[in-house]
Amino acid sequence: MKLADMGWDDFFAEAFAPYEKDGLKPARVICELRHAYALHTGEEEILGECRGKLLHSASSRSALPAVGDWVAVRPRPGSGRMDILAVLPRKTKFSRRAAGEHGHEQVVAANADALFIFVALDRNPNLRKIERYLAVARQSGAEPVILLNKADLNTDPDLAARAVRAIAGEAAIVVLSAETGRGCNLLKPWLKRGKTVALLGPSGVGKSTLVNRLMRDEVQIVQEVRDQDAKGRHTTTRRELFVVPSGALMIDTPGLRELQLWASNIGDTFDDIAAIALKCRFSNCKHHTEPGCAIRTALESGELPRERWDSYHKLRAEQAEMKRHLAARPDRQEKIVWKKVSENLRARYRFDARQD
Ligand code: GDP
Ligand code: ZN
Repeated sequence: MKLADMGWDDFFAEAFAPYEKDGLKPARVICELRHAYALHTGEEEILGECRGKLLHSASSRSALPAVGDWVAVRPRPGSGRMDILAVLPRKTKFSRRAAGEHGHEQVVAANADALFIFVALDRNPNLRKIERYLAVARQSGAEPVILLNKADLNTDPDLAARAVRAIAGEAAIVVLSAETGRGCNLLKPWLKRGKTVALLGPSGVGKSTLVNRLMRDEVQIVQEVRDQDAKGRHTTTRRELFVVPSGALMIDTPGLRELQLWASNIGDTFDDIAAIALKCRFSNCKHHTEPGCAIRTALESGELPRERWDSYHKLRAEQAEMKRHLAARPDRQEKIVWKKVSENLRARYRFDARQD
């Protein structure tokens, strides 16, 4: 394997140039472990740990490595491990609010080119949920692809696809069955060598089934990395970034499975609402009691479904809440920096608890 097989390209090469001068090597984070990161250099899998400088200069947790990140490393003599000295700039990132903290950002996957949003068709798709996932995708910078899976369990998958189409904007929609294989070849455009795809969706929608199908007979067992716990015992963990036979890289992390909205860019997701609001008589219309309100007219006529308007409001409220958190941060910044290292350790344990 070469670096390019792990997703390396000109963007990262340029960002890496100053580190190359210092004799560092690039590697990609394939798994976050209890006390280390599993990395791939394009040639081999190695373990790496963040060193003092990166830990102390990181202004927030989001500056620390996440699965999919490219990092600059140097061997630590005598340890067989690498020191991680820097995280390269990210092309895209999925973030969420760190659980129980002040709502600050935690990156759960970095540098995905596309996001496979899994929706199971064994029941009617929840359009509001899909809107939220699309908002996450747009915020991340990765291209969203909606996978309407379990099509074999739906009597009219095309009808479901049309309903999703109406709210999906420019996102691609693929109707498939990971179980029977039907439609899986339609995923080819996103499964090219060196391209990274992140898998999103709750438990049970068929992510593992699709991965297994793409892996064909290369069983999940090969997806394990070995690490040592604090007492020196060997532990194994499922890899969270791995290569499928087409050459594409897949990211499947517990964090992604539980992704929350992080200051989502709802403008794009609701551009139909934005378009209607443009027709309001007053440009600062609050769509309450103002005369000539196009939104109210659209709600009354049914052109704008009530639940879509409600879900827009919910997202707006969530976004406002995030903004308040962010605005409150500068005066908390110092405290956050001081708390960061212990926080990082705690988060690591939470992260692992879910994997075990
Ligand atoms: P994950 O939690 O998203 O990884 O979901 P899994 O891949 O474990 O799938 C959950 C269940 O749904 C399993 O029993 C699968 O066999 C089943 N399943 C997944 N994809 C399909 C599909 O396309 N059709 C049918 N009928 N079942 C599926
Ligand atoms: Zn209005």
